[in-house]
Amino acid sequence: MKKLHRGLYIGRFQPYHLGHSKVLEVIVGEINEVIIGIGSAQESYHQNNPFTAGERVLMVSKALEEFDIKSYIIPIEDVHCNSLWVSRVTSMVPPFDVVYSNNSLVVELFRDSDVKVVKTPLFNRMMYSGSMIRELMLAGKEWRHLVPDSVAGVIDDIDGTGRIQRVAGSDKEF
Ligand code: ATP
Ligand code: MG
Repeated sequence: MKKLHRGLYIGRFQPYHLGHSKVLEVIVGEINEVIIGIGSAQESYHQNNPFTAGERVLMVSKALEEFDIKSYIIPIEDVHCNSLWVSRVTSMVPPFDVVYSNNSLVVELFRDSDVKVVKTPLFNRMMYSGSMIRELMLAGKEWRHLVPDSVAGVIDDIDGTGRIQRVAGSDKEF
């Protein structure tokens, strides 16, 4: 099968986890170059979006070292208007031939813009989930087995667990 040249994979990566790595294992075999779009790039220091775009770039870039593929990692800020989102993304990333996603809104928006979209399989979605990992961090439970070691290192270096716990704290709790 002839490879498509360049593929786009978009996520918030709050944080990057082993589910993302499993998806990448599949798609790097189908393309020559991968673009990782870091969505909601403007968000950080929030319980649901704890990490900055720069910290997420670092997580993805370290995780990608295990794959032998040319990559581009591009932060993408929200446009707060779904009908304009595809043109925003397209203007921010190198030209691409295919989008990989499992997010139904992402799939819908790109397909309506006549972009080739491939739906990716889900891997252990119960545990390999950004929401689940953030919950574990907040509860002070173990989460490191759900992300690549290199990503755990990035998160520990910035005391990511402490950050989630601090930003989730309310001044109304006594
Ligand atoms: P959150 O719970 O914060 O939304 P998430 O785990 O869904 O985090 P995202 O960064 O939102 O992570 O996901 C980026 C892309 O990776 C989406 O297309 C999502 O469907 C996909 N994805 C996330 N987890 C998995 C998984 N376990 N297996 C396969 N694909 C996944
Ligand atoms: Mg998600």
